[in-house]
Amino acid sequence: MTNESKEFQELVEKQQAGLLKPKDRFAIPAQEMPAQDALGRRSTMSEVALGYTPMQARLEAMRCLQCKNAPCVEGCPVRIRIREFVEAIANGMFQEAITIIKENSLLPAVCGRVCPQEVQCQEKCTVGLKFKDVNQSVSIGRLERFAADLSKGCGAVPAVAPTTGKKVAVIGSGPGGIVVAADTRRAGHEVTVFEAFHKPGGVMVYGIPEFRLPKSIVQEEIDVLSKMGVKIVCNFIVGRTRTIEQLMKEDGFDAVYIGVGAGLPKFMNIEGEHLVGVYSANEYLTRANLMKAYAFGRGADTPIAVSKNVAVLGGGNVAMDAARMAVRLGAENVYLVYRRSEKEMPARIEEVHHAKEEGVRFCTLQSPRRILGDAGGHVVGMECLRYDLGEPDESGRRRPVAIKGSEFVLDVDTVIVAIGNDANPLIQQTTPGLEFNTWGNIVVDDNCKTSMEGVYAGGDIVLGAATVILAMGQGRIAAAAMNQYLAR
Ligand SMILES: Cc1cc2nc3c(=O)[nH]c(=O)nc-3n(C[C@H](O)[C@H](O)[C@H](O)COP(=O)(O)OP(=O)(O)OC[C@H]3O[C@@H](n4cnc5c(N)ncnc54)[C@H](O)[C@@H]3O)c2cc1C
Ligand code: SF4
Repeated sequence: MTNESKEFQELVEKQQAGLLKPKDRFAIPAQEMPAQDALGRRSTMSEVALGYTPMQARLEAMRCLQCKNAPCVEGCPVRIRIREFVEAIANGMFQEAITIIKENSLLPAVCGRVCPQEVQCQEKCTVGLKFKDVNQSVSIGRLERFAADLSKGCGAVPAVAPTTGKKVAVIGSGPGGIVVAADTRRAGHEVTVFEAFHKPGGVMVYGIPEFRLPKSIVQEEIDVLSKMGVKIVCNFIVGRTRTIEQLMKEDGFDAVYIGVGAGLPKFMNIEGEHLVGVYSANEYLTRANLMKAYAFGRGADTPIAVSKNVAVLGGGNVAMDAARMAVRLGAENVYLVYRRSEKEMPARIEEVHHAKEEGVRFCTLQSPRRILGDAGGHVVGMECLRYDLGEPDESGRRRPVAIKGSEFVLDVDTVIVAIGNDANPLIQQTTPGLEFNTWGNIVVDDNCKTSMEGVYAGGDIVLGAATVILAMGQGRIAAAAMNQYLAR
């Protein structure tokens, strides 16, 4: 359909007259996301998904049945009024759509891009259920992104209440920390964000690559915080530069939010992991994203391995990001080595699809046994085993069972381990009185309050490695509780 297409105009007229029937809506094809050409994008960091046009957005929104009970909302961790914002887009009222979304989500341009909608709102969508295919659900995330992008650049600065004289410290500037900073500042408190890195934004800046989430989007949100009067202090490691106790007892902070994420990479604990050429995905992505190692020698100071054959170990979003980054850094062959089948992969379907399009080779039902090195201590290969799937384990996924005698060697010079992250123990080691569970995550109550008076926590440091939207949701709960605590 073209913009002027008669068919489109008829649909719009019917929509506006309230005459669009379910059968008309079912007949509208799911709108494909325009994307950069797969071959061309292998050598560029710029964003792959290009976003809907206004006509596509309205067509996609017209596929929504406007269900009375809106089951999609139940699947949204922050309960965005999805039915209403989608209807606003269908009617061409784009500004209204973003206003509705922003009631519940502070970072819609981020969430529209990175939320796993297929296991949240879109999993529950009646349209997807009718077609028995989640890919046929209304593309709520893409519509959220569309509305958010249209309001880009007009970063309205939320009103701030008169000063209360109370001081809030936010540790970590990831999505949870950003939400807490905004919500507590809005209530009139003096807010300082302490960030260990030289740039704020958390995983959204150092982990998720530019080709999936442009950094300018995160920066815009950080700028809004600064305009609201939030102080952002970088290169400040709480637990090293100052402890939480010092912040509260000596520096006068009345309440603290801990949003330090889960930044400690897990390793396989196999022979050869010490070799030169083995990276954790965190290190690899931080070098490439935050330190811009892809421009080493052209204005960036941080180097990264120039690899020919790369193995990425894992099957989640982090593994996909690392594999796709390796493609962009010029590797000839990138193997994604995963010990279960593709069906069990935790990565988002879209990321798997994009990785394949870009030439990442999926080696499923395989796992490394040891990494092989040369006399100089550099990676020269990886010995792997093939696997079958057995009975489901405690996670409900079928357990991989090694096939005896199936060893083979993969010819690689770089190995990137992307099998998950744990909590960094620094806060635990330096904060007596703060309760942690056996995995090193902070224990909180329903209001995200910790065992320490005036100290709250949320996001990955509480949940374990989770998602942006869950971190934001916890940030919102914590900020409300902190505002209440400070008002006492
Ligand atoms: C590569 C990658 C890809 C991902 N892709 C997705 C995705 O597609 N969709 C999705 O929803 N989620 C994704 N995630 C997960 C998501 O990014 C996280 O769940 C989310 O960012 C957690 O937010 P947070 O607020 O807990 O803090 P984080 O984003 O983890 O940020 C914590 C911040 O605290 C800082 N910090 C740590 N210790 C200290 C200290 N002692 N003092 C001061 N500052 C400190 C860190 O430097 C960091 O900036 C991905 C994660 C990674 C690593
Ligand atoms: S479940 Fe799907 S069809 Fe129903 S209101 Fe939500 S988005 Fe629309």
